[in-house]
Amino acid sequence: MKTKWGSCNRETGHIWFNLELVKKHPLCLEYIVVHEMTHLLERNHGERFAMLMDGFMPDWRSRRDQLNNAPLADEQWQYAELSASQAAA
Ligand SMILES: [Zn+2]
Repeated sequence: MKTKWGSCNRETGHIWFNLELVKKHPLCLEYIVVHEMTHLLERNHGERFAMLMDGFMPDWRSRRDQLNNAPLADEQWQYAELSASQAAA
């Protein structure tokens, strides 16, 4: 099963983060924040998404790999919510 570190609702501009991220390296946490915020601009993980990520965070692929190499032990997750207006402030 693929780990869900965060999610983004484009209609409401709300982003959820898996609180297990606090146990991860700040570089990985930062990657998820940028990843989910990029979904506000592009819904899918296609070419445009990768291009935007390259612009925002050139080393995102290595951060993603670092995160995925350390999977979660527990599948009962809590989420923290952040609205895009708060994030932009
Ligand atoms: Zn995504």
